[in-house]
Amino acid sequence: MAAAAAMAAAARAARAALRETARRAWVAPPAAGRRAFAGAAGSAGPAGAALAAAASLRGGSLSVADFMRLALTSPEGGYYMGRDVFGRGGDFTTSPEISQMFGELVGIWHAAQWLAMGAPPCVRVVELGPGRGTLMADFLRGTSHIPGFHSALDIHLVEVSPALRRLQFSALGCRPDALEKGSAEAGVPDGRECAALGGAGPPVRWHTELDDVPEGLPVMFVMHEFLDALPVHQFQRTEEGWCEVLVDFGGKSGDGAPGPAAEGGGGENGGRDGAAATSGGDAPRMVLSRGGTPAARALVPTRLACMPHGARQSARLLEVSPAAFGVVKDVCGRLGRSPGTALIIDYGKAGGMGHSLRAIRGHRFVDVLDRPGSADLTAHVDFEFLERAVGQSGASVRSWGPVTQRHFLKSLGIDARLEQLSRGSSDTQRQALEEGYVRLVSEEASGVPGVPGMGIAYKAWALTSDGLAAPPAFVEAEDEA
Ligand code: SAH
Repeated sequence: MAAAAAMAAAARAARAALRETARRAWVAPPAAGRRAFAGAAGSAGPAGAALAAAASLRGGSLSVADFMRLALTSPEGGYYMGRDVFGRGGDFTTSPEISQMFGELVGIWHAAQWLAMGAPPCVRVVELGPGRGTLMADFLRGTSHIPGFHSALDIHLVEVSPALRRLQFSALGCRPDALEKGSAEAGVPDGRECAALGGAGPPVRWHTELDDVPEGLPVMFVMHEFLDALPVHQFQRTEEGWCEVLVDFGGKSGDGAPGPAAEGGGGENGGRDGAAATSGGDAPRMVLSRGGTPAARALVPTRLACMPHGARQSARLLEVSPAAFGVVKDVCGRLGRSPGTALIIDYGKAGGMGHSLRAIRGHRFVDVLDRPGSADLTAHVDFEFLERAVGQSGASVRSWGPVTQRHFLKSLGIDARLEQLSRGSSDTQRQALEEGYVRLVSEEASGVPGVPGMGIAYKAWALTSDGLAAPPAFVEAEDEA
């Protein structure tokens, strides 16, 4: 009964918040990003030297996971570390960058959760991988009228990139004098508190890792397109058993052979296939380990154990992210110790089979090994495997969904929000709003028949501490895949 009442109150609050949000102004979509890559990459790519050095310490080759981690986040040339990579002028565009409605509705969802928790006077909001800070800025603007919410917020951003931290700092309206006083590294915000919204808003702090975020308060996590950036290992079943795909830098180790994985391991390989065939000299190439690696021995049985019998028998390619598993397990541990929720939105696959790692540069898929550090690397999120992390955490946490992004946004009232925003807008603004809406909820990618649109390719998944009511948008959708 209490749960039902809390749920009804949360839904009422979400609707009221949405009505109030409607009175707020239309916000122009963010300006296009800067050029994707301005430095001289050279043929090895910005992260090439860091990768080659790491490989030489390990006998000449790296796991795909180590390759991905260094290519994305190495302080020397990692893709995310030195620049803005988002938007039309960058490499890819995320939902918060498409429309203000995305971050606003995510904010409303959290405000409803806060109310469902009994509106605690202090609640920690932790965003992992905030990009340009657009989602959190829209979150704050969309919830500024909810009584008591902003004064309860204590915001923590987990971001590895100094360049993106700076963008987040200005997107949230933190004042530069806060940096001059506090920050250790020139102009890069850190664990010291700054106030958002020109000094009048909630406190914000930055951390490199989730481990650094303090515990002990009710907490709400948000991750949008974060887990897909975490490193994956790739495995392939051969006659010798499960082998690991490795990236070989010059073959000094003689450790691997060009992998059958690189000879056309299915359409999901996203441009990686040509690497073994075309590379020579010191250019990196995909190879297969001879026999099982420690990662294969540790991860393959764990991943196979989450599969139905038939899928387990036929599995030939596996992709496993122990990093994503670890994040979800840690989040669940925290939700077991303090009341709270997590909202995870990302593109995902139904099961664990296949290799989905892709490289994206200038809005196009490119070869994964091409100039590492100059392209985004991303792999589909394996929700089936992450569900196991919830169980393994041993925490009393409930998992909801995943539901499609379309279902999530429509349940939260994106149609009403579009209509409300459109009412006071110019023709150009209305057109931008409508285009953003269509992209966010579409079932088919525009102009590409058969390719799923963002509305169904992206999934929303929620975790709640035991005892909390069903979150908005997950109430009647437990069956949706
Ligand atoms: N959520 C944003 C950005 C998604 S891109 C959006 O939707 O627009 C991935 C984000 O995660 C970037 O901010 C990147 O710098 C950050 N990131 C990637 N790997 C990380 C890691 N290991 N630790 C912390 N942040 C990471």
